[in-house]
Amino acid sequence: MNDTFRHKGLRKKLVEGISYKGIEDKRILDAIGKIPRHFFMDSTFDNIAYQDKPFPIGSGQTISQPYTVAFQTELLQITKGDKVLEIGTGSGYQAAVLLEIGAKVYTIERHHDLFIKSQKLLHELGYHPNSFYGDGYIGKEAFSPYDKILITAGAPEIPEELIKQLKIGGYMVAPIGKNIQIMKRITKLSDEEYDIERFGEFVFVPMLKGKIN
Ligand code: SAH
Repeated sequence: MNDTFRHKGLRKKLVEGISYKGIEDKRILDAIGKIPRHFFMDSTFDNIAYQDKPFPIGSGQTISQPYTVAFQTELLQITKGDKVLEIGTGSGYQAAVLLEIGAKVYTIERHHDLFIKSQKLLHELGYHPNSFYGDGYIGKEAFSPYDKILITAGAPEIPEELIKQLKIGGYMVAPIGKNIQIMKRITKLSDEEYDIERFGEFVFVPMLKGKIN
């Protein structure tokens, strides 16, 4: 794996593009400027890895579009040391962004090969999330409550089990819907109530139940 001047230059352009599209949090822009996204994809994507687009990562899944990663991360309003549960580790790229801005990351993936691959790469790059192989619908109660929960696959509806694992006052950012998703930020107000804000349409690979070998 090589991070060349060309990759660094393309990354700088990508950051400028994302900033132009409205992302303001400098910590997030710096993280995207630092993390070698091309390492999170097959080498055949080397020439296009810094386009602001999703790309296949195997097992029928995709690495999210960088703008979407930045948008979801911005909605989470991470403060240093926040305990964040991510559903859908995929390539591990989003987890790296969260770690880079100071979050403590717990991440779950249902595809065993992606779980293994992302964990290996993240460790090689010096990122150490707590990675789990399993079904994100049931979350990871043992480490709850979380300050923030991020879902990076399209959930047909708000997963109630995950709300239970969220701290009161915490945020869950999740794309909700079947074919097209509405980005929602759910604020847990009490054990019984939550507030929902909506942030436009996105398209994600679906959040599916169970785990896969
Ligand atoms: N955050 C990832 C995006 C990957 S796409 C990245 O930065 O690359 C969404 C991922 O969610 C896929 O890898 C998919 O396998 C996973 N996924 C879908 N349903 C899931 C579930 N119920 N539990 C855990 N992971 C799930």
